[in-house]
Formats: sequence, structure tokens, C-alpha cells
Amino acid sequence: MDILWILWILPTALALEETLMDSTTATAELGWTVFPVSGTSENSWEEVSGYDENMNTIRTYQVCNVFDANQNNWVRTKYIHRRGAQRIHVEMKFSVRDCSSIPRVPGSCKETFNLYYYESDGDTATKVHPPWMENPWIKVDTIAADESFSQVDLGGRVMKINTEVRSFGPVSRNGFYLAFQDYGGCMSLIAVRVFYRKCPRVITNGAVFQETLSGAESTSLVASRGVCIPNAEEVDVPIKLYCNGDGEWMVPIGRCMCKAGHEPVDNGTVCRACQSGFFKPAQGDEACLPCPINSRTTNDGATNCVCRNNYYRTDSDPIQMPCTTVPSAPQNVISNVNETSLRLEWSPPRESGGRGDVVYNVICKSCGGRGCTRCGDNVQFTPRQLGLTDTWVYISDLLAHTQYTFEVQAVNGVSDQSPHSPQYVSVNITTNQAAPSTVSIIHQVSRTVDSITLSWSQPDQPNGVILDYELQYYEKDQTEHNSSIVRSQTNTAIIRGLKPGGIYVFQVRARTVAGFGRYSGKMYFQTMTEEEYNTSIQEKLPLIIGSAAAGLVFLIALVVIIIVCNRRGFERADSEYTDKLQHYTSGHRMKIYIDPFTYEDPNEAVREFAKEIDISCVKIEQVIGAGEFGEVCSGNLKLPGKREMFVAIKTLKSGYTEKQRRDFLSEASIMGQFDHPNVIHLEGVVTKSSPVMIITEFMENGSLDSFLRQNDGQFTVIQLVGMLRGIASGMKYLADMNYVHRDLAARNILVNSNLVCKVSDFGLSRFLEDDTSDPTYTSALGGKIPIRWTAPEAIQYRKFTSASDVWSYGIVMWEVMSYGERPYWDMTNQDVINAIEQDYRLPPPMDCPSALHQLMLDCWQKDRNNRPKFSQIVNNLDKMIRNPNMLKAMTPLSSGVHLPLLDRSMPDFSSFRNVDDWLDAIKMGQYKDNFANADFTSFDLVSQMTMEDILRVGVTLAGHQKKILNSVQMMRAQMNQIQSVEV
Ligand code: AMP
Repeated sequence: MDILWILWILPTALALEETLMDSTTATAELGWTVFPVSGTSENSWEEVSGYDENMNTIRTYQVCNVFDANQNNWVRTKYIHRRGAQRIHVEMKFSVRDCSSIPRVPGSCKETFNLYYYESDGDTATKVHPPWMENPWIKVDTIAADESFSQVDLGGRVMKINTEVRSFGPVSRNGFYLAFQDYGGCMSLIAVRVFYRKCPRVITNGAVFQETLSGAESTSLVASRGVCIPNAEEVDVPIKLYCNGDGEWMVPIGRCMCKAGHEPVDNGTVCRACQSGFFKPAQGDEACLPCPINSRTTNDGATNCVCRNNYYRTDSDPIQMPCTTVPSAPQNVISNVNETSLRLEWSPPRESGGRGDVVYNVICKSCGGRGCTRCGDNVQFTPRQLGLTDTWVYISDLLAHTQYTFEVQAVNGVSDQSPHSPQYVSVNITTNQAAPSTVSIIHQVSRTVDSITLSWSQPDQPNGVILDYELQYYEKDQTEHNSSIVRSQTNTAIIRGLKPGGIYVFQVRARTVAGFGRYSGKMYFQTMTEEEYNTSIQEKLPLIIGSAAAGLVFLIALVVIIIVCNRRGFERADSEYTDKLQHYTSGHRMKIYIDPFTYEDPNEAVREFAKEIDISCVKIEQVIGAGEFGEVCSGNLKLPGKREMFVAIKTLKSGYTEKQRRDFLSEASIMGQFDHPNVIHLEGVVTKSSPVMIITEFMENGSLDSFLRQNDGQFTVIQLVGMLRGIASGMKYLADMNYVHRDLAARNILVNSNLVCKVSDFGLSRFLEDDTSDPTYTSALGGKIPIRWTAPEAIQYRKFTSASDVWSYGIVMWEVMSYGERPYWDMTNQDVINAIEQDYRLPPPMDCPSALHQLMLDCWQKDRNNRPKFSQIVNNLDKMIRNPNMLKAMTPLSSGVHLPLLDRSMPDFSSFRNVDDWLDAIKMGQYKDNFANADFTSFDLVSQMTMEDILRVGVTLAGHQKKILNSVQMMRAQMNQIQSVEV
């Protein structure tokens, strides 16, 4: 331990000595007390003037009685005040004559003397007191000379002087005397200095330690607490040093360090504020650093440097990193058009902005006579459209003969902070002629014993005006060489002259001026057998007779249709599906959804719209959820000649009825008709083995509502708007196909790993009356309805349309912007219905941009004709994404608390001159006098009214009380809004 302490002694902390008495500074006689008293014994201690080694005059005491035996000569100093010291040091300078150098010296000759001390609270000593003996005197030590001199010589010649230091303690009285006892030597006491030691004030380890007296023993350690120097902060506590018996500091404990924005200078004794242009981000001993490039300080003592104008940092950039800026535009774009595809290549921007994270976005605009519009979703970008890391992109599925402008933008991590970003370079191209793409769906509309009526969708990419279609067919057992051809100018055809019960293979291709497109895949359809035909006639007979009048109208319609068809050189048979026919003339790009339940045999719809997958291609891995009909699993699908893919697998639990099987598979026959990046994609079905399965693409993040709840507050507004845009785009596609979803809600949107949202859940069964398992769906006349998501006209008289889907979409917007909050919180369904009826609407969620809440309110227009179409919603959201400034304005009402629903019919109170006008407007004019009599004459006072006030004023009818209270709350909300705008 001692060794350790020695190492810990602070190198800078030199001990301080405080003198209590110094014989060399005496200007007159020292006048110490001598015993025996001079005169009684001739040769006791005697005060003599002499010189020190520097020849200064000093007062000394000498004695030399070597020839007399039994010497006992004492000399006592004057009273010395202790002055707080606990340990006293005595430094003696003396010379002693060597006994052997004295001729004929007796054996009693000594070369030593004794040092004593005596403590006393006052100067009370006399000639006889304390008695001249050890005890009461306390002996400190016998002092011997290191060197003795042979001849006493104080006459200016060389003297040999010894210096000895002794110490004693603890001393506790007010003061003490020292005494020197000679017992037969020849010596001279040249100088006596009495002192104590203390540790000096020091600054070390970032703290100040005040001057401290050393302890009573040579081994004592006196602890001292340090205080951090200005602008330093404690790092380890306590901050301590110990003062040892020799007046040295040791054993440092704890420390202080300069705080952020300050650096240690002057050997760590001062923490100085970083000067202009320098910063220090954290507490520590390091020096201030110069500001990174493109940044500066705004004051001394900076803890970070702010970026200069037009330079930025991302949240994850370290503050030591230079500030960066946006990249310049990409350079040297080269386009290479091939029919309706295009490859764009470019060089990186000249200036990367100082960052290494430059990526590219490609914006596509198609330009006609009336300016440019953003390209639709059909245009394909490989590898992708946004966030490209390579300097090329392949763009396909463009329209033929169309002029496009492509903007290649360079963006980096700070682009979203700059008003001057993104910089882009644009290129104009015109696509060439291309044959139409393939027809993807053919379905059977009706059939007889010798004919089949077919209809098909128009190709996704007609690439021009479709002149006509060519239908090729042949019997299943034959080959294409035996095929027949039928031409049609519409996308329907009746094929006659077929064999009863015959199975035929059909393929269709479209033709434009650029020629034929490729044939569609082969589809198999069968004519009726004679038996089937007879049964169907018998079933229809009573219906035909029972509605003769309707039949007449029907016949007329039939005649008209036949005439029209014949004019085009085509036969067109009537059909019970006439109203569902995909009867569109070429030139319009449209597909129509077909309700699988309109098929005589819904299994046929499954066969037609869903691909049968062999169970050997499917590998189930784990259960990920519970569907209505059984478990939902994840797994792999490996189709021959295709890459293995991750899929979701919905299963039908065993023990199902035929009806359950049909309902389960109906979802696949609906989903199978859709093909859009924001609609969940059906891979196929397994119906030929058990369990029956529906296989879809896998969506890694599951359903949107729970995904948002798990990631509350984690996304930027732009990301949320991106999700909403995807959902709106999927819904636009469905609406264009005449499909009404009826259950659009965040729980029915799935999210993949790229945050792409897809509309899902096309099952119809949960709307059926007999399913009572899910409280979200409330029984209503004719089925079950998810009240909170459903438009009023759909709740009241089951008017489900794409406009009622738009209402639900507004609720989904609200769910998204509130990260999965339950619409209308814990209000009951009946309260929700009443509130909506009274024109209340959901308020903006926290941090929701006003533009988005306005769009929600538009979706919740009472009159469904006033609601926006999905195409308008998509355009609107696109505008916001392109121009994020539109998303900056927040509705000031938004705060975390649940605000009352907004009364959409309630005008702003500030549009009224006074309280009377306001009462008139809320149809409560009859209470004007009541309000005036109770002094509620200003909006300020009225806005503070409570239910008690309303009662006190004299409003007794419950309905009126409620109406006034709601209006007061509304006024208060509007006032807050005004105040926050003013702030
Ligand atoms: P559903 O029967 O469609 O409501 O599905 C039940 C649950 O299974 C959903 O809430 C999802 O969590 C999960 N799920 C359904 N389809 C998929 C899919 N394609 N990818 C990932 N999870 C899915």
C-alpha cells in the first residue's frame, strides 16, 4: 500500500512549510532560558554572536564543559505558538567538537545532545518550571553529528555544520517550548528553525483542492474534497485528494472533465469555450475540433456546427461529417427505343453533393397535344422506377406511337431537405408501332348443345386501335392443323356447329395495323350434352310462361341485338348473362369483373379464373394466421420451369360442406380475375387433393392495421401517403373492373417487405347472415356490415357501389394516418350511425396534414355523387407526393387527445356578428334572451359554457342542451384553431 501511495504522489504538488520560529531571524539577543543559571555554574549554555556559512551574523548557543564530569546543561527556547499545526518539525544546525581531538580529554566527553519539547496552553514557564528533566519534558531524540570539527573556530574560518531535522506530534495545546540538553560535549547550536507542513492549493484532475494542513503523524492522510473548475463536470465522484504528513498530495480519486463545447487548456486547469469555427460534441479531455467542411458555429462554446445554406445532414450523419448537398443532374442520357420498350442509360452527376448515396428516380410522362401527364401504373420499370443504384433502366409496356418524356432524377440522402432538389435531365422519345399484347382471360358466357358463346378481355397493351380478334378452335383430341378460325370485331363470339358434349380448345389473338399479337393460352370449353340441354329447358319453362310481359320485352331486345350482330356479320345469342357480357368495342381498354355466383356451376368459375396447382409443387412451412375457413400458412411454390417463390396458402379445414367449399373457392375465382400491382395476386388453387388450398403471393408484413400498430410513429408522411396511393390505385383498378369490394378496411390490406400495399380479402361469406363470429360485422337487413367503414347509404338501403368503397377508403386513410387507431374509438355502432347522420366526421389524426384530412372529408360526403372517384384520389395523392410542400400544413386541431367529431354542417362561429346570430344559426334563437339575461353576451364567455351553465341559463329540453353543448365545444375547437394559427 505504501508503495502504491508513493506512486500516487502528485508530481506538481510541492509541500509548503510554515515557520513558527527561526533563530536566525532574531535581530537582538535570543534570550533563551539557560539552566544551570550562568554564574552559578560557570560553563552552561551561553548565547554568543557568530556567523553562519554565508558569513551572516547570527545568534548561537555554545557549551564546552568536557573537562567537568556530570554535566547537565539545558537551554529552553521561548514559548512557540502552535498555530493549528498538529505535527512540528525542528531543523537544527550545529557543530560538535570531536572528543578525540581534545588533548587529555576525560572519558565523559560527549558528541551528542538531547532534544525535548513541553506543551503548554500559555507562556507559563519560569526559571524552575517546568523542572529541567525528562518527564515533564518529552524527549524527541538524541542528536548526533554527522561531522564534527577538530577545532572550535568561529573566527571566519571553515566550519563544519550539521543539519538535522526531527519532528514530533500530535501536539494539541496552544503552544510549546523546545529544550536542548548537553551532558558533557563541546558544541555550538547555530540555528534552530521550527515549522509545520501543509499541502498547497492545487488544480488537478479538473478540480480545485484548497490548501490543507498535514496530519499529526508522519503517516497521517488528511482527505480533501475537490470542486470542479468552471465549465467542467464531475465524471467520477467523489473527487478527493489526500494530504500526507510531509505536506504532499496523493491518492487522487474521481475527476472532472470539461463539458461539451469546452476544452482543457493551461495544463488542464481551465476549461475554455471552443472558439468560433470550433466545436466539441461531448464532455471529455479532448480539444475542440474545427467545424467540418460546409458548416459553421453560431457562437463560442459550440457543441456542434450547423450546416451552411444549401448544405444538409441526414439524421444518421455523424456531426463530425462535412455537411453535404444535393447532387447535380445525371449526365449524357442515352435512350434506345425498341417498339414499345426503351432502355435509358446515363452517367452519374458531375457533383455528388459530397455523399456516396446517390440513387436515381425515373419519372415517366406521356405527352400529347394537351401537354404531359404522368404515366399510368402499367408501364413497367426494370429493375425498378425509384431508388435505382445502377445508371440504367429498362422500361416496357409503353403505348405504341406515343411521345414520352422521361426525367432521370439524381437524389441522395439530403435531397428531401432541399427546395432545389431533385435535379434531373430529361429525354423525349416516341415509341414505335407494336403488335397488341396477348389476351389473358377467355371465359364462357353460355353454351348449348352445338354452340359456345365466349367473351374475352382486351389485351393489356392494345398498342393501337384493335381492328378485330381472331379466334382459333379445334376439338381437344385434334391438333392445331385441324383448327377453325372465327373473326370478331368485338370481344365476344358465338361458335356454332359444334358437337354435343364436345370439348374444344380455344385461343384468341388481337389485330391492329401493326399486325396480329400472339395467341392467348389454350382454354377448354365443352358444349352441352343432349341430356343437360333437356333438363335446362324444363327448368326454364315455368319462368318463361310466368313472365309473358317480360318475355315480350325480352324478345324485342333479342331481335334488336340479333339485328345489330347480324349487321356486323356475327350471330349473337341471347343469354341469361347478357347484362354481364364483356361487350366492349375495341379501342376501349376495359375488363369487367364476373361474379362467380352467376355461373351455373361456380366450380366452373374456379376452373376458368384460377390455375390448378399440383400439390407436389407446394411446400407448407408454418402457420401464420387464422382465416375464416381454416389456417393461413406460409410456404414455397415451385412450378415447373419457374423459380421457387414464397407464397401464402389459405387452407379449407376438413369436414367442410359443399357450400363452404364453394364459398371458400369463390375468393379465388374473384382474385384470379385481377392483375394489378396493388391487388393481391392469385398464384392458383389446389382442388384435386385435400386440403383444398388457395395460393397467393406472400406479403411479408401481414395486414396493414396490425403492421401500423406495431410501427406506431415510425414512418414519414410521404411513406404513409405512398401506402395510401397504392391502395387507391388498386381500388381504381377494381372500380374500373366494376368490382365493388364492400369491405375495404386496413385489416383487409396486406403489406409486403417493400411497404407495397395490396387490396385483399375478396371472400363474400362474412357478409352472410349466418356468420356470427366477428363483431366487426353487424347484422343488417340482408347481410352483415362493417358499420364503421361503411357509407350511410350502404348501411341504410344496401346501396353498395364504388362510391361507397370511396367512403371506406376515407376511413382507411384515417386508420393509416393514425397508425391503426380504431375508427370512432369506443363509440358504439349505433352512436357512429347517429353521429354520421348528424354530419359529424372523424377529426384529423395527430400530425395529419390538412390536405389529407380534407381528402378524407371529401370521401365522407353524404351525397355519394359528390365523393371523388378513385382515379381522382390517385391523382390527388400523386400531386402531394410530387409536391411535398402540400403536406406541410397541419390542421392545428390535431393533438393527441380524442377531439369531438367534427360537425360538418356547423359554420365557423367567427362568421357571425354576435351571440344572437350564432344562436339563430344553430336554430336555438329562442334562447337569445336567456343568454343575454345570464350575461353570456360574447363568444369568449359562451365558449367556456359548461352543461351546468346551459341548464342555469334555462335550457330545459335535453335535445336543445345537447345541441348547444356540441356547438359550444365546436366553437372552442375553432377558437383553439385560430389561436394556434396566430401563434
Ligand atoms: P384472411 O383470411 O385473408 O383474413 O387472412 C388471415 C390472416 O392471414 C391475415 O390477417 C394475414 O395476417 C395473413 N395473411 C393472409 N394472406 C396473406 C398473404 N398473402 N401474405 C401474408 N399473410 C397473409
